[in-house]
Amino acid sequence: MLNAVEISHLTVKYPDVKALDDVSFVVKEGDFLGIIGPNGAGKSTLFDSMLGLNTTYTGTIKFFDQDIKKSKKHHQQIGYVPQKPVFEKNFPATVSDIVRMGLRNESDENRIDEILQQLWIHELRNRRIGELSGGQLQRVFIAKALVNNPKILILDEPVTGVDQQSIELFFSILRELNSKQGITIIWSSHDLDAVNKLANHVACLNRTLFFHGESEEFFSNDDLVKQYSEASMQEHMHHH
Ligand code: ADP
Repeated sequence: MLNAVEISHLTVKYPDVKALDDVSFVVKEGDFLGIIGPNGAGKSTLFDSMLGLNTTYTGTIKFFDQDIKKSKKHHQQIGYVPQKPVFEKNFPATVSDIVRMGLRNESDENRIDEILQQLWIHELRNRRIGELSGGQLQRVFIAKALVNNPKILILDEPVTGVDQQSIELFFSILRELNSKQGITIIWSSHDLDAVNKLANHVACLNRTLFFHGESEEFFSNDDLVKQYSEASMQEHMHHH
């Protein structure tokens, strides 16, 4: 299998904090990686660097063996679903409009219908996005991320504010994208059970990478799981 992503010695310093410190890992094509770590662990910084939004890092980031600082086309291989998609609730855009905004080549109009069907939102295509439930909206932004047929899908903790039924649908969609279409998935989540169910690899990030390996190895190691749970619990207490 090819290396879909190869991160080597990635370090990102902000004026007051080193957000990532010498992080290295590889994601093989077809992997489903769950990234777990408390708030402030550097997950968004990692994604911003991978997406080319933050270029101040040292180290290298490669997609399919191409250094993203040297290859201008790497964005075509990635679809990204942000944590909180920014949109105006009263913005008069429909579901199709939003997905179309993700389309790089305007002649691929048929692809919009195809991806809307695949994500169970084709019937909603003419609805305004302000009228949608959290789960429907989540699928719209996944459709937008997938409309250009990326090989890698990156999702930043997208489950908050979504009802249980939509979460199950979301999980089955991710599973299908990964196992049937071979899309490599990188998903940051606070939900350990969900990561356990879906991901075949786990990365634990807290400024440095303190674990990266197969899910089974992580979840069968009580000390590791406990360590993570304690870290996230402390984080939780800080916020309440
Ligand atoms: P996470 O996504 O895991 O919550 P972030 O990557 O957002 O973590 O943040 C990692 C650390 O870097 C935090 O201490 C945060 O305050 C800091 N940080 C993030 N973005 C910036 C920025 N643009 N400027 C300065 N500090 C930042």
